[in-house]
Amino acid sequence: EPILVMEGLRKTYRTGGFLGRGARVTQALRGVSLVLPKGATLGIVGESGSGKSTLARCIVRLIQPDGGAVHLAGIDLLGLKRRAMRQATKRIQMVFQDPFGSLNPRRRVGELVAQGPMVHGMPRRVAMARARELFALVGLDPAATDRFPHEFSGGQRQRIGLARALALEPDVLVADEPVSALDVSVQAQVLRLLAELRARLGLSIVFITHDLRVAAQVCDLVAVMKDGEVVEQGPIGRVFTAP
Ligand code: ADP
Ligand code: ADP
Repeated sequence: EPILVMEGLRKTYRTGGFLGRGARVTQALRGVSLVLPKGATLGIVGESGSGKSTLARCIVRLIQPDGGAVHLAGIDLLGLKRRAMRQATKRIQMVFQDPFGSLNPRRRVGELVAQGPMVHGMPRRVAMARARELFALVGLDPAATDRFPHEFSGGQRQRIGLARALALEPDVLVADEPVSALDVSVQAQVLRLLAELRARLGLSIVFITHDLRVAAQVCDLVAVMKDGEVVEQGPIGRVFTAP
């Protein structure tokens, strides 16, 4: 059964311009409908500018779509009131290309991982213990929670990004180019970890990538985006062998 259903998502950006002149309108999503079955990994592929990140950000509600619907296990996410929304969004977490791109470099990584649970009411001591468990889960030394982001390599940072995303025990991960900034050998390690976590935790994953080779390694299903639309979708073997 589906865990996540996207229906007719639309998003238009309006930028620049002055007194109506020179404004630019970009239709980033023109009615995107997709289904993520429970336990599956759905790849979203397509060239830069095709709307992949916008779709990811609409799913996790970092931005508000202009139209359409997102259903998580049957719950209409876009129609929820603030409080119910907070509970529901715990269940969908995002993994970014650079997990520390927008985070405070002066906070210890354990605190960054514990932050989500603490915001949702977990006592600090419990949340920090949980951060150490999560470090072990993603293959890092639990004692390393005392360190700072710059002390970690790219691959280790992405493991911390995963720990952070998993801290609220989500059902769905939305990963936006999670290995694109990593060396190929490190990419393989992180992708293997993601596959392990998926099997172990029963995660369902939306995996955004411009790299078809990466998509072929981790996805069961794939959707190809072009100019804000899904132009092709299906099981990965069928889509990638199509003429
Ligand atoms: P992708 O992730 O596939 O590269 P994006 O979703 O980032 O695609 O972008 C889709 C289109 O929307 C592009 O034309 C991009 O320039 C535009 N866009 C993305 N974010 C913004 C924004 N915040 N403001 C204006 N235009 C944007
Ligand atoms: P990605 O495709 O991986 O999202 P981009 O370089 O397209 O990377 O976008 C990086 C950031 O710039 C995003 O936050 C996006 O919203 C913003 N952005 C992208 N295109 C535009 C645009 N045309 N105008 C304003 N902001 C944009």
